[in-house]
Amino acid sequence: MIPPGETIGILGGGQLGRMLAIAAARLGYRCHVYAPEAEAIAAEVCAQWTRAEWSDAAAMAAFAADCAVVTYEFENVPVAPLLALGAVPLLPNARALEVAQDRLNEKRFVSGLGGTTAPYHVVDTAEDLQQALDQIGSPGILKTRREGYDGKGQWRIMADHDAEAVTFSGEPLLYEGFVHFFAEFSVILCRGADGTVVFWDSAENTHVGGILARSVVPASDAVQAQVPAARALAEKVAAALDYVGVLTLEFFATEAGPVFNEMAPRVHNSGHWTIEGALTSQFENHVRAICGLPLGATALAAPQVEMRNIIGDAAEDWATILTDPANHLHLYGKAAARPGRKMGHVTRLCW
Ligand code: AMP
Repeated sequence: MIPPGETIGILGGGQLGRMLAIAAARLGYRCHVYAPEAEAIAAEVCAQWTRAEWSDAAAMAAFAADCAVVTYEFENVPVAPLLALGAVPLLPNARALEVAQDRLNEKRFVSGLGGTTAPYHVVDTAEDLQQALDQIGSPGILKTRREGYDGKGQWRIMADHDAEAVTFSGEPLLYEGFVHFFAEFSVILCRGADGTVVFWDSAENTHVGGILARSVVPASDAVQAQVPAARALAEKVAAALDYVGVLTLEFFATEAGPVFNEMAPRVHNSGHWTIEGALTSQFENHVRAICGLPLGATALAAPQVEMRNIIGDAAEDWATILTDPANHLHLYGKAAARPGRKMGHVTRLCW
């Protein structure tokens, strides 16, 4: 067990790191953020910030020397430089990062464990894309294998002729057949070092333009019927990766059952509702897991909980949000609002 008072290292400086650090502080831990960007909103609530490139082995080693354990809030942290962490434990481990960083690895890994994915085809050239369309057909989505998030790095191919407009930069891509889903949902679990697993209620998620707009629990009955199979798969993924911490799997609910979309080896936007809406939040349980503390109960704290993201520079009536006691406002302290940028969220507990 890592006792309170010790320092947790967080790789990445965004809102997930910020909310992790707030949860860690409540349990008496210090946090040290490692992030290369000029703006690290997580660092604003942490004891320390190392601003350095991922490849800076000396900076990474000095950071590690200050930490009892290191975690990450961002799955695109390059894996090779993490060798500089030396003997300081990295939780979840680097294998989870490697699998989740590449959509092809992720799909192969999950189908190897019996999960269903959208039909897919590796695409590096125009000829590959033609083959993909011959085999899978349109509509479909061409995605970058690495570094895509919030719908970035995706091109919708509604009809075969849309393929003519695609330009190839040499970046590895994956073509996925379009899944005809009736809803989207996520499974979020937390696994302790002793293999204990807890799940939160699965949220039903609505995306707009590839970005999560809203998560609601409980999910509809039709989605809830698919949760046991989805949980069983998520638990297999966690066990196969010898995973410690919070793990998220996103699913499409289809007439034929749950179809795995993607995984995140970290706390997730569709779990932000757990801060006020569950007895223990995803952030606190992640901290508990990586520090070897007992995991907290995950039951709902209200009959219904809704979380909506505050995105871009949409005008919000803060006074109305703040004066309604059902609402809990979270703002991430980002300086500039850009289209599609997640600026905060509001969780609403409904009784
Ligand atoms: P992703 O970044 O891959 O999670 O994609 C973002 C969103 O795009 C998903 O949550 C879906 O709403 C939609 N989407 C992605 N892939 C597919 C697919 N193969 N079929 C249908 N919708 C998809």
